[in-house]
Amino acid sequence: LRYGTTIAGLYAGAAAAVGDRPAIVDDHGMVTFAELDHRAGALAAAMSRELDVTAGSTVGLLARNHAGFVEALLACGRIGAHVILLNTGMSPAQAAVVAEQQGIEVLVVDVDLLDKLEEVDADVPRVLCGTGPDDHDGWTTQTLVAAGVGRPEPPKPAEHGRTVVMTSGTTGAPKGAQRPSSGGPDALAAILSRIPVRADEASLVLPPLFHTWGLANLQIAAAMRSTVVLRRRFEPAQALADLSAHRCTVMAAVPVMLQRILELAPDERPQRDFAHLRIVASSGSALPGPLATKWMEAFGPTLYNLYGSTEVSWATIATPEDLRAAPGTAGKPPLGTALRVLDDDGRDVPAGEIGRIFVGNDLLFEGYTGDVAGKESIDGLMATGDVGSLDAEGRLYVSGRDDDMIVSGGENVFPKEVEDLLAHRDDVKEAAVIGVDDEEFGQRLAAFVVPTDRDNPPDPDELRAHVKANLANFSVPRDVTFLDELPRNPTGKVVARDLPGQGS
Ligand code: ATP
Repeated sequence: LRYGTTIAGLYAGAAAAVGDRPAIVDDHGMVTFAELDHRAGALAAAMSRELDVTAGSTVGLLARNHAGFVEALLACGRIGAHVILLNTGMSPAQAAVVAEQQGIEVLVVDVDLLDKLEEVDADVPRVLCGTGPDDHDGWTTQTLVAAGVGRPEPPKPAEHGRTVVMTSGTTGAPKGAQRPSSGGPDALAAILSRIPVRADEASLVLPPLFHTWGLANLQIAAAMRSTVVLRRRFEPAQALADLSAHRCTVMAAVPVMLQRILELAPDERPQRDFAHLRIVASSGSALPGPLATKWMEAFGPTLYNLYGSTEVSWATIATPEDLRAAPGTAGKPPLGTALRVLDDDGRDVPAGEIGRIFVGNDLLFEGYTGDVAGKESIDGLMATGDVGSLDAEGRLYVSGRDDDMIVSGGENVFPKEVEDLLAHRDDVKEAAVIGVDDEEFGQRLAAFVVPTDRDNPPDPDELRAHVKANLANFSVPRDVTFLDELPRNPTGKVVARDLPGQGS
């Protein structure tokens, strides 16, 4: 590992070893590892010279999945600049706050996302990511690459900048989580202990690269010298076409993407052979048991469910065998990870009982930027913010976030349990359940349901009766609203404040 284990180092190493192999396939075509290395080096040289980006500078990156994103990330790695990965789902007001709080000095941005930055201080230079429109008179990464002379060597491990992932802010304002600065081999060993990733494969990476889950896949591909296939936007039919055309053996996704692929009508599905697809890795949000089962019926025993977060990286991984035995499980901790489910007094809860999930490994994040308090720790294990239970075999079931818990009439309800029950029905495609204020009970349950047949939704009383027959009385949603789709962020999480009547 002559070049170190940062992502820039891993890509530099791959370029030296297998330069003429394809590194990235995107909407524009293909770049080899050598080309990527050259472009990242030239971009780094020009960013230093023209925009004064040096070791310790802070660069914001707001881009979709394409080679330009990776080039900018690697260029910053070469320089030793900090990179703040901005979520494309942010509002202009949030972007302005984040830019200010994180001290962003230069922004690299996709042209179609420029309007997200309209409230950011006009003095912060904007560099378009990739090529710009013909009449654009500022810098683009393309023109910077052309202007770049001299190729800075990959930084020594001690000099590299931070990579900061902005949380999506599902539970408050976006926070800047600092990823561990190295840990490539640890991360890889953890993955390999549960998922049979190989070298020199092709991997279709569908989650956004600005999120830990997409970024982790890029890092794994760099370490394994595998090709990544990237698209700016997720289209289910395109994903299947890519799997086939590029003979991808790995596909990384968030659960809602798997659902969209399965929903494709037969005439929208390319009739191709997917026998080469060995690994479908799902993470980012809970994988519903019925979806896991349906996926494996359609695509064989390919599915892996990874549970983790920006803060703790991998906590558990479920293999296809785990998912066959227990479709709703998030699996077991990988190599090097300790997992405990604790009660409020810090004691392990017995199997089957719900407690707070704590994780320890070498991949824990290095805290939030600014003076935002970190996560609670007990005995060196970090709180995930989630609650769940272990079964007798040590498999984890995530019930949901601590703060999603609804207290109705003094009883605790985890909305996921009700959502899963509703989504099990044939006449329900998906459901979100939240707590709304109630004079009598403190909170009451409100369900937002996407019916399978839009013109023929189920009877709300029948849905309530179904919940009542399976769960306690206090878990029955009093309000039922039918929607065409659930509002989701770019990583597939339902955004509760965007549900009707929740006022965002
Ligand atoms: P925010 O914390 O603001 O929501 P984010 O969406 O960017 O930001 P992540 O760190 O990606 O945050 O989210 C991690 C959370 O997603 C976990 O704590 C858990 O609640 C949920 N999650 C992720 N993967 C799984 C999984 N496989 N099963 C169940 N829950 C999951």
